[in-house]
Amino acid sequence: MSNTGFTTQIVHYGHRTDTEHGAVHAAVHPSTEYTYHDAHDLAAVFQNRKKGYTYGRTGTPTTAALEAQVTTMEQGNGTVTFATGMAALNAVFFALLRHGDHLIASKYIFGNTNSLLMTLENFGVELTLVDATDVAQVQAALRPNTRMVFVETIANPGTQVADLKAIGDVCQAHKLVYVVDSTLSSPYLRPGRDFGASLVVNSLSKHLGGHGNALGGAVTQTGLYDWADFPHIYEQYRKDDSRTWGLLQIKKKGLRDMGGTLSSDVAHRLAAGAETIALRMDRICSNALALARFLDTHPLVERVQYPGLDTHPQHQRATEFFGGLYGGLLGVVLKDQADVFECLNRLRIVALATHLGDNRTLVLPAAHTIYYEMGAERRALMGIPDNFLRISVGIEEEADLIGDFAQALADR
Ligand SMILES: *Cc1c(COP(=O)(O)O)cnc(C)c1O
Repeated sequence: MSNTGFTTQIVHYGHRTDTEHGAVHAAVHPSTEYTYHDAHDLAAVFQNRKKGYTYGRTGTPTTAALEAQVTTMEQGNGTVTFATGMAALNAVFFALLRHGDHLIASKYIFGNTNSLLMTLENFGVELTLVDATDVAQVQAALRPNTRMVFVETIANPGTQVADLKAIGDVCQAHKLVYVVDSTLSSPYLRPGRDFGASLVVNSLSKHLGGHGNALGGAVTQTGLYDWADFPHIYEQYRKDDSRTWGLLQIKKKGLRDMGGTLSSDVAHRLAAGAETIALRMDRICSNALALARFLDTHPLVERVQYPGLDTHPQHQRATEFFGGLYGGLLGVVLKDQADVFECLNRLRIVALATHLGDNRTLVLPAAHTIYYEMGAERRALMGIPDNFLRISVGIEEEADLIGDFAQALADR
């Protein structure tokens, strides 16, 4: 099974597990608590001596099935799911970092993650934001107390492609935890372990689930990092293989203590959605490239940021990393004479909404919406001008999408 293709493995995942009645989907388990006939077994499960379930906050058989599916896609050694991508990121940072630690993060990241990092700073974590498209900047930011490096594979919303492999090498040389947010590329374009990541975060709300009907997040441990090199693993989690300790701590702190748990119903919806990720991504990526090329030559467009265009600063790198697929997100800067709101209001098919990785194409004026709260200065640092449109391309027919943007941007 392990040498079969990506989708073959995912859709036949159910056949390899012991589902009841030969069901192809894992059952949706609504139980809050799980009982045991023998109190010894109950104690053994609590003490991590035996596999099993105790209380829904720390997971159910349904979330476990989704976790196994994501682990397969990411080729990792384990996954923990959360209620949202942000809950997953919170669990990683708060379970592993302490007051006085230094975190190096890309300055090109999702706005809410940027906001979360500011909160971390208030808890005493030292933060350096760098241009992660250049490994030299990561290298130059290293301090004796650096514990972790965080980057997005393809950045939301600017589409910068981090120097993922070279940063992985730096992290390995310095024994740093390397966290890669793979939401925009997804494991279909490339599993995070190929870049040397220790942990891979995916917002399951986006490409993994794909249908705009469920929120979720996941942290996958690749097995490349030896947690014996990390000073903040609590004694009680330093058991068995040291390449598994980090995820156990993330699960205990992130789910048990912080409680950002995914429900079984939602886990089932995400797992069903994820089965078609390869088909959806192929279509999304080809639509996105066609739309990027169309907008790139449009007289009202100042520039298009999309890794598939050869004018993109990391185009070569993106091609090398992702084998000719470039994701579904476009950053489009309109010329000053264009009225951003007017153009958006003329769209007939494309929906005005925040979100990405959906079957539907969505667009929003980033500076006025998701990046409004952070203010002009931080927006400038992150490269988000006032007339920046974030377009998340869907699976509609290519001609319909291009036609809709053509009529919305046409002279009247
Ligand atoms: C959306 C997003 C998240 C957060 O995911 P939610 O499921 O919406 O909480 C994290 N990282 C990136 C890159 C995202 O695009």
